[in-house]
Amino acid sequence: MKDNYGRKIDYLRISITDRCNLRCTYCMPEEGITCMSHDEILTYEEIEIICRMMAKIGLKHVKITGGEPLVRKECWRLIEKLKQVPGIETVTLTTNGILLEEMAERLVQAGVDGVNISIDTLNKDAYAAITRGGNIDQVLKGLEAICTYPQVTVKINCVLNGEDWKETAVSMAQIARTKSVHVRFIEYMPTVFGGEEQRRTQEQVKEVLEEVFGKMKECKEERPLGFGPSDYYQLDGFQGKIGFISAVSHKFCENCNRIRLTADGKLRLCLQSADMVDLKTLIRQGRKLELAAVIQNAVRHKPKEHHFETKEIETKSMSQIGG
Ligand code: SAM
Ligand code: SF4
Repeated sequence: MKDNYGRKIDYLRISITDRCNLRCTYCMPEEGITCMSHDEILTYEEIEIICRMMAKIGLKHVKITGGEPLVRKECWRLIEKLKQVPGIETVTLTTNGILLEEMAERLVQAGVDGVNISIDTLNKDAYAAITRGGNIDQVLKGLEAICTYPQVTVKINCVLNGEDWKETAVSMAQIARTKSVHVRFIEYMPTVFGGEEQRRTQEQVKEVLEEVFGKMKECKEERPLGFGPSDYYQLDGFQGKIGFISAVSHKFCENCNRIRLTADGKLRLCLQSADMVDLKTLIRQGRKLELAAVIQNAVRHKPKEHHFETKEIETKSMSQIGG
């Protein structure tokens, strides 16, 4: 799949639910959310149909996301199905980790290639405050559980929040010292739930980490498994790498290779753009044969870039888009 700007699109992020067992302050409101009904969301079979079609025209990498993907019943069944699709090389998952301990083995048996766990702080109270009630101990047990499978690439996604972000950055990076886990700092993206003041740039975080751990060496070749826009660095004596995903301060639209499928079956061409194509209706009307042409045409019109930096604010939350 190629767009009108010559970008090769081979990476699909699939949100399999808009529901979540946490309520991170920068992602979801505390209450008053109307969740999609069961009938509205794509079945695993429908997701498989879309992926099989896309794989024929160039899809190689799939990320399962949400909401919280592990709250959807037997989500490993979907991973198992997608791993069998010819052309799909990797299937990875992004989770908050709350249910990971109990599910790690099933996910690995299903063939998951990588698991990203979102952890913004190791401080028990701060974690509970950011997630509105989450228990960090549960997440850390999930991290331990998935780390027992060396075939799975494990990454941590951290959005730095609050006043003590410097201490938090250091304690989060420490995880990569003793574990083969890659810790990535994700720059906050403006949505209706937060503001500019929450953004810590790559440069700010790098400076803090270098003060404590010494000079970071950029990894050009030796990158961990992944197909996204992370900039990776190596610190001396660390097993894992440190990554930065900086959608606003280091805009990476020029090399964007991804599109998104929402839980209710809309193909979303850019994180920020509201332009979407309804694939669910096509499938449910029995028009599967039209899928490839519709997808190819939509991909061709993928927007050139996002506009977060010009203060345009995303009105949908990341839990609805899939992050
Ligand atoms: N629930 C899963 C999780 O937390 O990993 C998957 C979905 S969540 C929307 C995916 C990622 O989006 C998480 O790492 C989360 O921190 C990130 N995210 C949510 N809102 C964000 C925002 N406004 N800016 C940057 N990242 C955001
Ligand atoms: Fe849920 Fe993930 Fe959003 Fe937090 S970031 S509220 S865990 S979807």
